[in-house]
Amino acid sequence: MNFLTVDLYKDFQCIGGDCPDTCCVGWGIVIDEDTYRKMEEQEAILEIPASDWIMKKGDSRIVRLDHSRCPMLDEDNLCRVVRRLGSEYLSSTCSGYPRVQSQYGDVIEGHLTFSCPEVVARLMDKTELQFDYGEDKILEPKESYPYEQLYLYESVVRIAMVDVFQNPVKLSLHTRAALAFDILEKAIERYKDGRTDPEEIKEAVAWCFQDSKLNMMEMRLHGIVDENSRYRFLQEIRFLLDTNNCSERFMEMIREMNTYFASNDLEQYLKDIQNLKNIQCGYGDFHIRYWVCHIFSDLLSIPEYEKARENFMYIAACFCLAQMMALVVCVNQGTLDRNQYIYIISNISRKMEHNKYFKMQLMNRLDENKINGLAGLLLMII
Ligand code: SF4
Repeated sequence: MNFLTVDLYKDFQCIGGDCPDTCCVGWGIVIDEDTYRKMEEQEAILEIPASDWIMKKGDSRIVRLDHSRCPMLDEDNLCRVVRRLGSEYLSSTCSGYPRVQSQYGDVIEGHLTFSCPEVVARLMDKTELQFDYGEDKILEPKESYPYEQLYLYESVVRIAMVDVFQNPVKLSLHTRAALAFDILEKAIERYKDGRTDPEEIKEAVAWCFQDSKLNMMEMRLHGIVDENSRYRFLQEIRFLLDTNNCSERFMEMIREMNTYFASNDLEQYLKDIQNLKNIQCGYGDFHIRYWVCHIFSDLLSIPEYEKARENFMYIAACFCLAQMMALVVCVNQGTLDRNQYIYIISNISRKMEHNKYFKMQLMNRLDENKINGLAGLLLMII
């Protein structure tokens, strides 16, 4: 089996009790049948009947949370199952997190989810993000894979989008995102016409890598966003972030964000956002890596490639909400330190990962405002 991932994947290690957050709070944790049986066998050591902390939900079993926490999580945020039985007793959900694997024919892709603060921290510390392509001997290839051509096509498009973000030419995040979006839209148009030849799309998007065209695009997009429209748009999308299943600290941050946007005018916002940008100027390269990782892990959409467009807008929405929260922290505390920024990004990701409801609401808002395209995308890249 071929295995494709970012280099961060192999190096990742959970920091357990040193984690500023924990992945065992606020989520539906699925427990497989095999693990459930083991938990029944080990009830005496764990000092709790398995049925007390694992419940049936439909065809699956999930952990019965206690005040949003997994009951196996001790006060020092260490897992009782690991402590008393060993990590080999963890369910596949727990032992895999924050790693996610997806299989496309004879290729496995490995991703890391940003809801883990250690993933965000490591990505911040990196200076360069590389992709690893190698062999994985564990998983067997599926016998036949009907979407091999589409996977190759989408992969070529994804590489082009990643290259736009990583291009060494000096470009704003706006321009990079706009170009990547343009590549994606062209690729989706061709896909709808049944033209999914990877070599053809490579040629069709080659212009995106000419320095003169890039510079022209940068000039065209400079100052194109009407800040008044953006401010109105931010006022709308903040309501999509609810306080369900959040830690107390994050709930408070959401409330503070709502208070800020309810009580400040555009003029104040423009001053504050400029201040945030000054404080954040060291994070420019991290933002590029953030987008590259998301494009790598979230963009493929097989078999319905049209949905990749939604996925891209969703990446932008997560980024936008993280910037809105960073703005408010910066206003309230006069600064935004690295740990606060990591906390914001990982908690936003936690709320938004696999959140179909949020995605639907976001797309509705974009449609209602007639900005479900480049205009909406640019509004979200603060
Ligand atoms: S969130 Fe990440 S670092 Fe923290 S406990 Fe979970 S896997 Fe470990």
